[in-house]
Amino acid sequence: MPPSSSSPASASASASGAAPVIVWFRDDLRLADHPALSHAVASGAPVLCLFVHDPRTAPSGAAQWWLHGGLCALRDDLSRMGATLHVAHGDATVLVPRLAQQAHAAQVVWNRRYDPQGRETDTTIKAALKQDGVAAHSFAASVMHEPWTVRTRAGDAFRVYTAWWRAARAMGDPPPPLPAPRRIGDAGMPDGWRAECVGIDALGLLPVAPDWAGGLRATWHPGEAAARARLREFVQDDMAGYATARDRPDLPATSMLSPALRFGHISPRQAWHAVACDGAAGAEDRAKFLAELGWRDFAVSLLYEQPELVRSNFRTEFDAMPWRDDARDLHAWQQGRTGYPIVDAGMRQLWQTGWMHNRVRMIVASFLTKHLLMDWRVGEGWFRDTLVDADIASNVVNWQWVAGCGVDAAPYFRVFNPVLQGKKFDPDGTYVRRWVPELAHLPASRIHCPWTCAPAEVPRGYPAPIVGLDEGRARALSAWRGLSGAT
Ligand SMILES: Cc1cc2nc3c(=O)[nH]c(=O)nc-3n(C[C@H](O)[C@H](O)[C@H](O)COP(=O)(O)OP(=O)(O)OC[C@H]3O[C@@H](n4cnc5c(N)ncnc54)[C@H](O)[C@@H]3O)c2cc1C
Repeated sequence: MPPSSSSPASASASASGAAPVIVWFRDDLRLADHPALSHAVASGAPVLCLFVHDPRTAPSGAAQWWLHGGLCALRDDLSRMGATLHVAHGDATVLVPRLAQQAHAAQVVWNRRYDPQGRETDTTIKAALKQDGVAAHSFAASVMHEPWTVRTRAGDAFRVYTAWWRAARAMGDPPPPLPAPRRIGDAGMPDGWRAECVGIDALGLLPVAPDWAGGLRATWHPGEAAARARLREFVQDDMAGYATARDRPDLPATSMLSPALRFGHISPRQAWHAVACDGAAGAEDRAKFLAELGWRDFAVSLLYEQPELVRSNFRTEFDAMPWRDDARDLHAWQQGRTGYPIVDAGMRQLWQTGWMHNRVRMIVASFLTKHLLMDWRVGEGWFRDTLVDADIASNVVNWQWVAGCGVDAAPYFRVFNPVLQGKKFDPDGTYVRRWVPELAHLPASRIHCPWTCAPAEVPRGYPAPIVGLDEGRARALSAWRGLSGAT
C-alpha cells in the first residue's frame, strides 16, 4: 500500500497550537518543490529543519563528498530564509522519535523514499511517532510517478520500460513544481537538541589524508542554486540536438544533472517542466530527455517492486554464472589501465570527476561483465563508491541491464566491442585524448586501437590489452551458453 499523504492545502487544519513541525530532509536538499517543507510552512506552526546522518543509509565515497557540499548549501539557503538546519548523527529510527519528543513536535513531515532500506527505516519511525502521539506525514517529491501509480490494466507492475513509459505518459504531465517558501518561521533550538546536534563538519564527510577530492571540487558545485542554474543553461544552450548527441561522450550534450537529482537539489518535476516548456530545443530532443528522466522513475519502481534486486539477479539462471575472481584484471579496470582506450578514458573520468558519460558507463560495464566475465555486483560496488550520483535504484538496475540478468535487459550475447563503440561515439578521439593523455598524439584512426600503431608510435607506459576482444567475447558467450535457460 502507498504511504499516507496529505496535501499542503490541508496543512493548517492539522497544526496544533505553537507546537513545531519538524521537516526531515533526506535526499531532497532544496527549498523549492519541497512538499514537506511547504506543508510545514503552510501549517503556520514554527518549523524545525532537520537532517540526520544515519550511517546505515548514508552514501559513501564521492557521493559522501557531494553530501557535504549539498548540506552546506542547504544550511546557507535556509539561513537566508531565517531558518536553521539542525544536523544529527546516528540511527534515525532512534533519533527522529527522540528529537520529536524533545521538541514537543506536533508533526514530523518528510518526502518519501522508495529504496528498501529507506522504506524500512521510515516505516519504523512512523510507527514510533504514532505511538508517541506525534503525527507523521509523507509526500511525493523525488519521482514524477510513484511506483504504485503506474500499473498494467491487470493492476500489475510493468517489467518493460517502453510499456511503462507509455502508461506513464498516458497519465499526463506530472504536477507543476511548488515554489520555495518566502519565509520560514523557525522554532529555535529546542531544549535537548543542543546535545544531539552537530555541525556539518563534524560528520567527517570530506576526505582527508589523502584529500582525493580535487577533481570533484574542480568539476561540481553541489546545491540548489547551482543545480537550477545548470538546468536553465542546459535547456537554453545545450539541449538542442540532445536526442542524437546524448550518446557522444566527446560533446557536452547531456545535462550532467544526475547528482543534483540524486541529492534532490532539483526535483524531476522541475526538470520536466523546465524542459517540456522550452521552445529552443526540438520536440524530439525534449521527448528524449523526458524519457531519460522516465528511466530514473522506472528504476525506482523496479526496486520498489523487487527489493531483492539490490543483490540478486532478476534472471535467476544467472545465479550459476561462473564469474571470474581476478584481482589483477579488476584493478586494471578500476584504474583505467585495460589497454582499451574508451574503457580507460571512462574509468579515469570517473576516478577524477566522480561522473561518467552514460554511453561509456554502458561500455565499461559490458567490458567488466562480458570481456572480463566479472560479477556485475563488483562493478556496481565500485560505481557506488566513486560516482557522485551513486543511486541505489539507477545503479543496480542499469548494471543488471547491461549484464543481461536484469528486467527488460540487453541480451547477454550483445557484447559491446570497445573499439567499434569508441570509433562510433568518439569518432575523433577527443574524449580519449582528454582522459588518456598519453594517447593524445595518436591519429583518430588509431586512437581506439593503439596496438595497431607502428612500434615507435605506441606510447610507453600505456598497457597492452589485458584480454583479447575475440578471446574475452568467446569466453563470456561460452559461460552464458552453459546456463540453463539462457536466451
Ligand atoms: C552501469 C550504469 C550505472 C549507472 N548508475 C547510475 C547511478 O548510480 N546514478 C544515476 O543517477 N544514474 C546512473 N546511471 C544512469 C546514467 O548513466 C546517468 O543517470 C547519466 O549518465 C547521468 O548523466 P546526465 O545527468 O548528463 O544525463 P542526461 O542524459 O542529461 O539525463 C537526464 C537525467 O535522466 C536520468 N537518467 C538518464 N539516463 C538514465 C538511466 N539509464 N537510468 C536512470 N536514470 C537515467 C538521470 O537522472 C539524468 O540526470 C547508470 C548507468 C549505467 C549504464
